[in-house]
Amino acid sequence: MIFDTHMHTELSFDSSEQITRILDAGKQKNLGVITTEHKDLNYFEVGGFPIDFNVDEYFRKYEKYRSDTYLMGIELGLDKFYTDKIRKISENYEFDMVIGSLHTMAGINLSSRKYFKGLDEKTFYKTYLKYAEEMIIDSPFIDTLAHFDYPTRYSGFRELRYEEYETEFKGLFKAMMDKDVTLEINLKRPLVGEVYDSFKSVYEGYYLNGGRYITLASDAHIAEDVGRNFDDAVRMMDDIGLEICYYKNRKRILCSR
Ligand SMILES: [Zn+2]
Ligand SMILES: [Zn+2]
Repeated sequence: MIFDTHMHTELSFDSSEQITRILDAGKQKNLGVITTEHKDLNYFEVGGFPIDFNVDEYFRKYEKYRSDTYLMGIELGLDKFYTDKIRKISENYEFDMVIGSLHTMAGINLSSRKYFKGLDEKTFYKTYLKYAEEMIIDSPFIDTLAHFDYPTRYSGFRELRYEEYETEFKGLFKAMMDKDVTLEINLKRPLVGEVYDSFKSVYEGYYLNGGRYITLASDAHIAEDVGRNFDDAVRMMDDIGLEICYYKNRKRILCSR
C-alpha cells in the first residue's frame, strides 16, 4: 500500500479538518495516511498564529484510531537554537514518523514575501541549501526532509535546478545519506511546467548522489487533498528509479504495490 506521509488536521494552526474525514479519504483512495501536525518550537508566527500544537492532546484524541493504515507523525520546524528541545519532542513521544521542515532560516520566516524583496536569487538559494545541509547534520533525528521548494513558493524566484546548484545539492544529499534522512516529494503544487522540470532535476540529482528512497506528501490541510498529484509523482519516481517508502515506529518501510 502507498502511504500519504504528510497532512494536517484541526490540531494544526492552519487546518480545521477532522481526523475521521482524513481516515475516510484514505480508505476511499486506498492510501495509508500519516498525520503530521505542525510544531515549530521557535514559535514562529504565520498570519498571527504560532506554528504549534499540544502533543499530549494529539495522542489523547487520535491514538484510538491508530492502525496498519493510520499512523501518527509530526512535522517539526528545524532551528539550530532549539535542537535539543526539538530532539526531545521527537524522542519523548511514540511517533511513527518525524518530518523535519525549514519554515525558517536562522530566525527568518521563509514564507514572508517581504523578506525576499531585493534579495539576490542565487545568493539566497546557495545560502538556503547550505543551511539545509547544516540543519540535517545538526538534527539527524528526523526521518524525512520536507518541501525543499518551500521558499520558492513565496520568493517569486525561479524553480531550483540541481544542475544550477550542484555543489550545494551534493553537500545536502551527502549529509542526508550520512544521516539516513529521506527526501520527501511535496505535492502541494501540481507537477507541471517549471515545477515538473525542477522536481525531475532535483530528484535525479538525489538519485545520482546515492538517494534511493522518497516519501509521498500531499501536505493536505483538507481531506479532499489527501493523495493529491500522487499519480504524476509515482510515474516520475519510477522513471528515476527511486523507491517509495513510509515510516512506522520510526522505521523505513518500502511501499508494496
Ligand atoms: Zn511545512
Ligand atoms: Zn505540512
